Amino acid sequence: MRPAPDRRADVRLTSEGPGLEFDRHERRAASRCGGKMAVLRVQGIRKTFTTGDDNHIEAIAGVDFAVDRGEFVSIVGPSGCGKSTLLSVIAGLTRQDAGEVYLFDELVRGTHPLLGMVFQEESVFPWRTAIRNVEFGLEMRGVSAKERRRKANQMIDIVGLTGFEEHHPTELSGGMKQRVAIARALVMEPAVLLMDEPFGALDEQTRFLLGEELLQIQARLQQTVLFVTHSVSEAVQLSDRVIAMTARPGEIKDIVHIDLPRPRDTRTMESDAFGKHVAR
Ligand code: ADP
Repeated sequence: MRPAPDRRADVRLTSEGPGLEFDRHERRAASRCGGKMAVLRVQGIRKTFTTGDDNHIEAIAGVDFAVDRGEFVSIVGPSGCGKSTLLSVIAGLTRQDAGEVYLFDELVRGTHPLLGMVFQEESVFPWRTAIRNVEFGLEMRGVSAKERRRKANQMIDIVGLTGFEEHHPTELSGGMKQRVAIARALVMEPAVLLMDEPFGALDEQTRFLLGEELLQIQARLQQTVLFVTHSVSEAVQLSDRVIAMTARPGEIKDIVHIDLPRPRDTRTMESDAFGKHVAR
């Protein structure tokens, strides 16, 4: 993992609320385990779906891994191997049959305010402008209008949407809509940002550029990210570690450290080392 100087404070969005909650959780957990600990730990997750005709589909057959603070970890695997199911279990949106999810060593039951999610499909609200989309979660949390506008504006700037605040999603490109979705999740200052193929619906070029930008944002915020993709090259471009899953039922086949230098720009992508990682 890259060394993670705490630059998060430079761009701390909160004077109150979730940012402090994040620190409290981390301090409490760190004192319990005497220092270093994983932000997220996934242990023995299993999930079988039962469909109407009493068919059983074993989606995940036992998965364990941990993600450290500031780390960018991707999960790759063939379509249908259970990647989205796994992320959905971690997000508390799907109930597992067995296994546990821990955040700062505390058992997570259901959804958690420190776990943010960005989906592949368009999830921005079409009736809200870009900035009002970003403000949504803060509004739900009861943050004052002035404070949420301040935080949303800061996040709009970080994702490169300044000038588009008052645009509705229909007036934005696919890539811009995903930036809104990313800003909407990040403004809540999640301990872990869960991303389920967030660039899956975009063309190759936009996907690559957004990947580069996501890395810049991630480095600036020291954001811990767990990212699902079926694209091996995207996983190598973005990650500190790549978790490769087997075909269904999904199990971890390999965990690969990506020791390529950062920033990961076009030059990195054209290097032999990059090709070797992808081939592996
Ligand atoms: P991936 O994200 O790797 O493409 P998924 O997690 O979406 O895979 O799906 C894993 C398996 O579980 C697939 O066979 C899929 O059809 C099945 N599955 C996913 N969600 C459900 C569901 N709600 N009901 C029944 N089967 C499901």
